[in-house]
Amino acid sequence: MVKADGYGLGAAPVARALRAAGCSHFFVAHAAEGVALRNALGEAPMIAVLNGFPPGAAPGCTPVVNTLEMAQAWSGKAPVLLHVDTGMNRLGLPGLEGLPPLDIAYVMTHLACADDPAHPLNETQRVRFAALRAQLPGVPGSFANSSGIFLGYDSELARPGAALYGIAPAPGPNPLRCVLRLDAPILQIRDVPAGDTVGYSATWRAARDSCIAVVAAGYADGYLRALSGHGFGILAGRAVPVVGRVSMDLTAFDITGIAARAGDMITLIGPDNPPDAVAERAGTIGYEILTSLGARYRREYV
Ligand SMILES: *Cc1c(COP(=O)(O)O)cnc(C)c1O
Repeated sequence: MVKADGYGLGAAPVARALRAAGCSHFFVAHAAEGVALRNALGEAPMIAVLNGFPPGAAPGCTPVVNTLEMAQAWSGKAPVLLHVDTGMNRLGLPGLEGLPPLDIAYVMTHLACADDPAHPLNETQRVRFAALRAQLPGVPGSFANSSGIFLGYDSELARPGAALYGIAPAPGPNPLRCVLRLDAPILQIRDVPAGDTVGYSATWRAARDSCIAVVAAGYADGYLRALSGHGFGILAGRAVPVVGRVSMDLTAFDITGIAARAGDMITLIGPDNPPDAVAERAGTIGYEILTSLGARYRREYV
């Protein structure tokens, strides 16, 4: 799953690495993402488009058929993935009634609660999907997203996204490694005397004489404004808190007591502060931290 620009990390380089590792089926959400990925990957792998598209709109891509109207449009044409809804009530057909003749490459469904292993909807969806698949003998299935894989929900084609990028599949200890690090340079270090405030709306007031590092990343880069007063970075192996409001291009950190200079890097995301941990402080999920990663960052692939 390399939708949303490979979860913010760069769809083309991520997909090329996956392809080199043996991946033969790719998923994106939008037709335009599919066409761009086709150009990046060449001819061989399947590129499925979750949102579907009308015939002719995304050459070289395979549509996911979510509605009867789309099924009619694709009847007698190219192979499709058929999406059935088994309880999420998002995209997909409720059943197979009224379906015209279709060349179905895979029948797929999507789990609503796979990150909560105890949720009863998981088993409900598993049973419903098995019943639908029994009506399509010989058609391979595509079931599990990342968390579904960790639930042990097997099928011919899994669709992992988040797990590829190290996001935890369920609450608790994460069996996956953090695969990214985000560093931002310190532009300026300033001494802020006790009683002075920092940033827009003066929301943070120095309780002691403080040393503040101003870093070149802000909410326009996906360093979420919700991290104001909550986030932290890592400098010289120590956690340094965000002080005041995150602004569009800049964020201030309290580095009092740490020797640093302009040009030094503060690590905003990394193994010691992974996307899930950053997300918790921003009131969101690791997925949103990754997909928010801004266009102004220079991405390097190791
Ligand atoms: C995004 C998505 C996935 C991947 O989900 P992860 O939780 O990131 O593994 C799989 N299937 C569908 C239909 C999706 O929309």
